[in-house]
Amino acid sequence: MRIIQEPARDIPVIHEADVCVLGGSCTGLFAALRAARLGARVVIVEKDNCFGGIATTAMVNVWHTLWNTNGTKQIIAGLTEEVMDRLDRRGAVQRHEKTNPSRGFTFNSEELKIELDELAGEAGLKIYFHTQFAAPAPIIENGRLAAVFVENKSGRGAIRARVFIDATGDADLVSRLGCETYFANHLQPATACARFSGWNSLGETARRVGELIREHGPAHRIPPTFSWGNYVPNSDNYMLAATRIHGINPANADDLTHGEIEGRRQVRAIMDILRAAAPAARFGLEALPSRLGLRESRHIRSPYQLTGDDVLSGRAFDDTIAQGSYRVDVHHQNKPGITLRYLDGTEEYCQPGVPNTRSRWRPETATNPTHYQIPYRTLLPLRGPDNVIVAGRMLDVDPIAHAAVRVMVNMNQTGEAAGVAAVLSLETNQPLRDLNIDTLRARLVAGGSAL
Ligand SMILES: Cc1cc2nc3c(=O)[nH]c(=O)nc-3n(C[C@H](O)[C@H](O)[C@H](O)COP(=O)(O)OP(=O)(O)OC[C@H]3O[C@@H](n4cnc5c(N)ncnc54)[C@H](O)[C@@H]3O)c2cc1C
Repeated sequence: MRIIQEPARDIPVIHEADVCVLGGSCTGLFAALRAARLGARVVIVEKDNCFGGIATTAMVNVWHTLWNTNGTKQIIAGLTEEVMDRLDRRGAVQRHEKTNPSRGFTFNSEELKIELDELAGEAGLKIYFHTQFAAPAPIIENGRLAAVFVENKSGRGAIRARVFIDATGDADLVSRLGCETYFANHLQPATACARFSGWNSLGETARRVGELIREHGPAHRIPPTFSWGNYVPNSDNYMLAATRIHGINPANADDLTHGEIEGRRQVRAIMDILRAAAPAARFGLEALPSRLGLRESRHIRSPYQLTGDDVLSGRAFDDTIAQGSYRVDVHHQNKPGITLRYLDGTEEYCQPGVPNTRSRWRPETATNPTHYQIPYRTLLPLRGPDNVIVAGRMLDVDPIAHAAVRVMVNMNQTGEAAGVAAVLSLETNQPLRDLNIDTLRARLVAGGSAL
């Protein structure tokens, strides 16, 4: 590769804050909101045109249950519940908590964008949309991260802050700082969702989408997949997640470009398959995601890696900052379908058009765990500046743990924890890694979390 040198230049400091959050999915926004609600001056930087991340730009409109697996205890609350309650008041969410314990909520992603704008406005956040954390080495002063560079239509600017939260999904800041990061051996595949009008007109064919893709997919170069979808509340649209793009490294520009084009190609191929099966149906493509749905990217190396055993045995931690009950859900890279592994010791292998096969991954026991926990340590980059923390899917987890904890009701809580930790660190003048965990947990609960 040929190299040229970027000339040194002066960069304006465009904003100064107590806390700077990079990445504006619900994870990042919830970090910003919790910090702002505790009185911090917060700036949030998002490369897309809205908050919500995968829930909005990739159209993934399901949040899972807030309850433990047997429905006896609410284990998640905080901003996740607050946002769903606010959307509920607009009729933009369907609650399935009572009828479908694994589903929780189906919502309208477009309405979510507006709700998140309102929440950010109410909290007085300084927002930069269309703004990306940029490559130049961040500025370190006295061993602490003092400023990062961002890039947008106005040019390159620096943001100074006292604590930084990397919520980019890809650990962009942490890896740029030179802290250790890693990729799983088999990254979960990517999916391009799509929304359709007139889905009803497909009649019985709508129920056979998975089976039809399995039968005709090979002729259209669609790999064996797993499909799911739902009617979008407060609209006439149907959201379908049925494509599967393998081998995408989310930290590689060429892979991302290929993935976007391939995802859209597969959406069209699925439409052709459905039209051939139901020629009289009048359904149309209403919307494509503005960003490919990426399930997994870089992880940080932290003082503790959460393991599949921890999750599946419901291991308790002294420094728990988040809880979840969503099953282990592996979208395979190397074979069709998904494997679901439950806390009660059972397992299901699901392929479209084929009955699920049930087995046990461990022998039966008298009692089963009903939820799992995520420790604070998994958010702290090893050997990084002591005023940097991560939130979201880049936390330190093995592949089985990741397959469970990655869902949004869980990642939202890591955001809330990072935001509260940032403020606590500023208040006590202590590094993020030395915070008093009991105080952190108490502040989370005082702000609405259900720990
Ligand atoms: C197809 C698909 C289906 C899924 N189904 C479900 C489901 O049904 N329910 C569920 O709960 N979970 C589901 N998941 C998983 C879940 O959506 C993700 O694991 C979760 O959203 C990860 O959250 P995050 O905040 O870490 O990352 P993201 O949601 O990816 O957020 C990262 C944010 O950072 C921004 N960003 C990235 N880099 C930069 C930068 N350099 N500068 C500024 N901003 C930046 C991005 O634009 C984005 O807004 C699914 C995932 C996929 C892909």
